[in-house]
Amino acid sequence: MKERVICIFANGNRFSLETGEVLKAKLEKSGFKTTCDFHPEAELIVCIGGDGSFLQAVHRLDFPRIPFIGINTGHLGFFQEILPNQLDDFIFHYKQNKYHIQHLSTVKVIGQTSSGEEILHRGLNEIIIKGNRSYSVHLNISIGGSFIERFSGDGILVATSAGSTAYNYSLGGSIVDPRLNLLQLTPIAPMNTTAYRSFTSSILLPTDSSLGIIPEYTKDHQLNILVDGSEYPYEDIESLSINLSNKEVRLLRFESYDFWAKVKSKFL
Ligand code: NAP
Ligand code: MN
Repeated sequence: MKERVICIFANGNRFSLETGEVLKAKLEKSGFKTTCDFHPEAELIVCIGGDGSFLQAVHRLDFPRIPFIGINTGHLGFFQEILPNQLDDFIFHYKQNKYHIQHLSTVKVIGQTSSGEEILHRGLNEIIIKGNRSYSVHLNISIGGSFIERFSGDGILVATSAGSTAYNYSLGGSIVDPRLNLLQLTPIAPMNTTAYRSFTSSILLPTDSSLGIIPEYTKDHQLNILVDGSEYPYEDIESLSINLSNKEVRLLRFESYDFWAKVKSKFL
């Protein structure tokens, strides 16, 4: 019989590590092999922590095809499906295949700088283009090749549906039901003047549309690209293109999964 391997990742906090130990014992008693390193043949990756540690694991493993399940020891946990006191329930349902897989789209930015450096980043929540040291940015934005707006302000954020409840929401963007697959372009403090005009609300784009960005520079030539909370500085970016990426993140969800109940308990 083929060995069934499950990876268990816990963030550094004590409660997460303890939960990981308890889960390891329970899974091994149920006939699974567990590892705390990445294993390419694993059937499941358990991630113990908050949303931030989940995002870190997804990036560290470079968006694997193996499904994840999150155990929440953080704040609310949008990606997390279960709590540390539900381990037996989880194993019981998992062994009976009583779950479904939620597919989360990711967003990708590609581009180059004037010195020929290639840019490529992928995000699960969002990609943000911002200026250096609080300088405003000037971006010419096109959708599907047609010029749309000349943006000036702190920057722009492009969120996936999964990322809609993170930074996007703090900026006044809309919460997106995960059954809708789209990209949301949300401005960060847009300035509207006679020289630069842009939309002040978020705009929603279908999955096959491509967002083009050509920066204009005045005094500072650095732009920062932020991807799920990590920042990457670049000098003299010539152009960027932001699209839905072909990689998905797969999450185990049980019958009790209710996105809107989560949203309500976090925000209301
Ligand atoms: P962080 O600054 O420590 O945490 C930001 C908060 O966002 C945490 O409470 C985190 O939950 C929560 N969060 C992350 N993804 C979420 C999602 N999809 N839906 C709802 N809430 C979510 O940074 P971090 O923990 O490394 O997370 C990175 C993310 O933080 C970025 O992708 C960005 O969206 C977000 N962020 C938000 C703001 C803002 O709202 N003003 C500013 C900077 C970054 P946990 O507590 O469970 O980790
Ligand atoms: Mn966090």
